[in-house]
Amino acid sequence: MAVLTQRLGILGGTFDPIHHGHLRAAEEAHDQLGLQQVLFVPAGDPPHKPGLPISPAHHRLHMVELATADKPHFAISRVDVDRPGPCYTVDTLRLLRAALGPKPAFFFIEGADSLVETVTWYQPQKIIELCELAVVARPGVRVDLTELDKELPGLSKRVHHVQMPLLEISSSDLRARVKTGRSISYLVPPSVEAYIQEQGLYR
Ligand code: ATP
Ligand code: MG
Repeated sequence: MAVLTQRLGILGGTFDPIHHGHLRAAEEAHDQLGLQQVLFVPAGDPPHKPGLPISPAHHRLHMVELATADKPHFAISRVDVDRPGPCYTVDTLRLLRAALGPKPAFFFIEGADSLVETVTWYQPQKIIELCELAVVARPGVRVDLTELDKELPGLSKRVHHVQMPLLEISSSDLRARVKTGRSISYLVPPSVEAYIQEQGLYR
């Protein structure tokens, strides 16, 4: 990670698999908010998906590596895959702050679906103290900031809207496509598509 980073984007996700929705969100936030770097943080044991089968972290991490390798302003953090779950976002942010020092401003990048859920996460008040939120639109999700502010006072002041072309891509749909033998070309980077094929993921 560049020491000079003053404004850091943080994109947490299960990334099972990473796709062009994630990558475009990171790129738009980088460009529009003047971030020096975006850190992809694959989840270890995500608290909001209990019971669902999730691919082992090493596969998800490797796909994030493949997808981001050619971008100097994208980096990866193992902070969540290397600790025992459940990995609460508030702890992720605290650990990153401890590792990176007081300097960089943190911008937690998330889709509108994730923003709506944030108010239900563990210690949401602390989350919005530790970072600002960079929110991208997601098809089919409407955000009512006035309502969300009632549940988490001060939230809306921490939100930056990041414009992005709506991309109706989700990891769950990609997994379903692979399972039923349909193509995922042009929805994920070619390197990720090849890795899924080689490793026999999602069959
Ligand atoms: P799943 O279908 O398994 O939930 P997902 O596609 O939603 O997967 P996640 O890893 O859950 O991917 O998402 C990580 C972050 O990326 C979340 O903040 C989510 O809102 C955002 N995100 C995912 N896909 C898109 C997309 N197509 N457009 C904008 N944001 C997205
Ligand atoms: Mg999701």
